[in-house]
Amino acid sequence: RILQTVAERLRKAAGGTGLAARFGGDEFAVLITHRPDREAVELVCRQIVEAFAERVEIDGRAFSVTVSVGVALAPWDGGSVDELLRHADMALYQTKSEGRNGFRFYSREISASIEERRQLESDLHEAFAAGCLELHYQPLVDVDSNAIVGVEALMRWNHPERGWVSPAVFIPIAETCGLIVPMGKWLLETACAQAALWPGVTLAVNVSPAQFRDGDFARFVGETLESTGLAPSRLELEITEGMLLDESHKPLETLQALKAHGVRIAMDDFGTGYSSLGYLRSFPFDKIKIDRSFVGILETDPNAAAIVRSVVALGRSLGMVTTAEGVETREQLAFLADERCDQAQGYYLARPQDPLRLTALLGT
Ligand code: C2E
Ligand code: CA
Ligand code: CA
Ligand code: CA
Repeated sequence: RILQTVAERLRKAAGGTGLAARFGGDEFAVLITHRPDREAVELVCRQIVEAFAERVEIDGRAFSVTVSVGVALAPWDGGSVDELLRHADMALYQTKSEGRNGFRFYSREISASIEERRQLESDLHEAFAAGCLELHYQPLVDVDSNAIVGVEALMRWNHPERGWVSPAVFIPIAETCGLIVPMGKWLLETACAQAALWPGVTLAVNVSPAQFRDGDFARFVGETLESTGLAPSRLELEITEGMLLDESHKPLETLQALKAHGVRIAMDDFGTGYSSLGYLRSFPFDKIKIDRSFVGILETDPNAAAIVRSVVALGRSLGMVTTAEGVETREQLAFLADERCDQAQGYYLARPQDPLRLTALLGT
């Protein structure tokens, strides 16, 4: 029913200039034959995107639909229907990766960036299979005592030609190709086994959306704690707000199941998402991690200082631990101490490092 309604609206938006047909799945093809110039095509694209700004209503229920459009122009972008479709699809993919609700024209750069990503994806598969991914650990420090009270596990990939590739680049790739699930399992097992040798500190592990959506996640966490012997209360799973928004699975139930195992739940990147306060009310998080984008401008932006101050107060009144990430200066740390923020993490205190160096740092 939704697809039918979408098709009707699409046809209207294409304004009779084109032929709109279901192309498979949730994809539609619009063929514009009598207006070959770029400006006119751009106009049609705009109309299509705008047409879905309003929600689609079916049986009294409203659905929001996002539209991503990719365009290929004949004869420039392809000599055959196949090639045109393939290039339009690449442009579509580009629109999606740029955040949806828009359109892109195919270009050689798009083709090159997709090729590069494909290469990176296959290198990542290889690296994971060959055991070339590493885990580094960054200390979390108690603001009052300066003692290391926890570590966050962060994935590292030393690419044979590119050198260190940022997890901000390869985690999203692993996420879309499904590799994140086996990778996340390896990560959790390795990190838990490692942390079991570091008594006295909590272990924070980032959970990706695909892992969290996986129906088996809570059970796997339970099994890993058992097999590695790490006390559940020492494991802290970091999740982000966006993951709670995805109602296609039951995020709160997954969180409850995890809590039932005795692990702690931290809200990561706090302040960068949508409706943080509502989530804090609907689920008892153990910790709030204040995003480094606020911490980084503490000295220069009075608004950031006010926000950090209120989040710390909020955390305290809700009985949640507050951690500030991205602490890079002595001044930032002093501010956090004044505001009685519980923990700090950042280059000023310690960089992420390999397990050997961290073992030395912990003096165990
Ligand atoms: P995040 O969870 O917010 O992790 C903290 C990031 O901040 C890390 O970047 C860390 O190296 C960096 N950082 C720490 N202190 C400072 C500082 O003082 N200044 C600045 N500018 N940065 C600092 P990293 O390791 O590059 O990771 C980036 C993101 O990739 C992470 O953000 C996390 O979302 C994701 N990620 C990393 N490892 C994993 C993993 O094993 N699993 C999953 N699912 N995601 C991961
Ligand atoms: Ca994190
Ligand atoms: Ca974070
Ligand atoms: Ca972050």
